[in-house]
Amino acid sequence: MLYERVNDTPILGSKDFRQLEQPLIPNESNEWTWMEYIGSGVEIAGHPLKDRCNMRGCAACESENVRVIYGKWCVSAHSGDAYYDYEIVCLDCGKFTARSYNEND
Ligand SMILES: [Zn+2]
Repeated sequence: MLYERVNDTPILGSKDFRQLEQPLIPNESNEWTWMEYIGSGVEIAGHPLKDRCNMRGCAACESENVRVIYGKWCVSAHSGDAYYDYEIVCLDCGKFTARSYNEND
């Protein structure tokens, strides 16, 4: 099941994402079953998790003019199910869209 929330401020990404020095910062513990990225934001097309997470545009205004400020993907060692969370900021309406997906729901 996909959970989707539109917010006025980031809930997954850094509250200070605009101040981050890089658009895409991998977590130091990333490995093949667990990957997390924060950053000041990259286009969906430039995000390494875009295919695994099936990233889409703004939930408030449908714009594709967005930047991904948070992304996490992992596979459960027990069930093999995939989970993901990501957050985008919309450059047109300024809203934040957070989506979470659990393959098993
Ligand atoms: Zn928007």
